[in-house]
Amino acid sequence: MWVHNACDFSKVPKAPTGKGSVPPGERDPKRAFSRSETDEMLQDQGGKCLGCGEPKTLSEVDGHHLKRHADGGRTVKEEGAALCKECHKEVHASNKK
Ligand SMILES: [Zn+2]
Ligand SMILES: [Zn+2]
Repeated sequence: MWVHNACDFSKVPKAPTGKGSVPPGERDPKRAFSRSETDEMLQDQGGKCLGCGEPKTLSEVDGHHLKRHADGGRTVKEEGAALCKECHKEVHASNKK
């Protein structure tokens, strides 16, 4: 059975939920990473998801803001990471258990 490695939250901190600290008008107008930016981030990570460290292809990853967009994170490679869908879901999951 295939088991997903746990996401490494030391590299990819849990994204906060709720209202952002930066007003919408002051946020980076570019909301999401393009496919080519996500590809570059994936290559910079050695072709692996930053969360679980599994080798991934571009179609299996999402561009993620390490600093939340609503908290002033910019949509630039330096502030982003390529995460597989599983890890991406995990970092955005509510902290409440
Ligand atoms: Zn992953
Ligand atoms: Zn994300």
